[in-house]
Amino acid sequence: MKQFMVVGLGRFGSSVATTLASKGYDVLVVDSDADKIQEISGLVTHAVQADATDEDALKTLGVNNFDIAIVSIGTNIHANILATLILKEQGVKYVVVKAQDSLHGKLLTKVGADKIVYPERDMGVRVANNLISANVLDYIELAPGYSIAEVVASEKLSGKTLAETDIRGKFGVNVIAIKNEHKVNVSPEATDVIESGDILVVMGHEDGLRLLKEY
Ligand code: ADP
Repeated sequence: MKQFMVVGLGRFGSSVATTLASKGYDVLVVDSDADKIQEISGLVTHAVQADATDEDALKTLGVNNFDIAIVSIGTNIHANILATLILKEQGVKYVVVKAQDSLHGKLLTKVGADKIVYPERDMGVRVANNLISANVLDYIELAPGYSIAEVVASEKLSGKTLAETDIRGKFGVNVIAIKNEHKVNVSPEATDVIESGDILVVMGHEDGLRLLKEY
């Protein structure tokens, strides 16, 4: 099970942390503000008050054990960059960082950030795309616990027919469409062959969807 660390509990960081925790993942949050730590402490695995620009403090927390860190310190760009640098130096495999603008993003890449996100800009693009395209996935609300997801077919599924993969039997979910860059198959049949990299549109319980994504 992946271990996550979230640094900075602004609106973005809090939302990332509580979402991961609600899905059952181990989440350590760090913020210099004691009130923020107090507020979130019942909702995540560990909440620690610390300055993320303090190398020794992060070392004490054993940050090198974390697979993924999300740096969401917003306005203080200096702290945002420094925290990113320290986390990478201490061996966190994948560091996602919230950036203010593209210049800030470039700098973060230079200090080793693995992924840069621009939450407001990205959300704006997404909302606009959803308004003009027919991507229904963001609109359909199924019963609690049930949803529709897009899953990239792994090597293990490659070259097998839908029947041979036994996705329904193994994960209790239904494949309702198979997409690739050339076409969309909206009525997949048992004999249709899946290729690695195909996108499967799948409906079912979130547990089954998660297992299929990790398969
Ligand atoms: P947002 O724009 O996402 O709301 P903010 O910049 O307002 O983000 O806040 C991010 C959070 O980061 C705040 O809760 C703040 O206390 C925290 N923070 C700022 N600097 C540090 C630091 N050096 N170490 C740890 N947390 C910090």
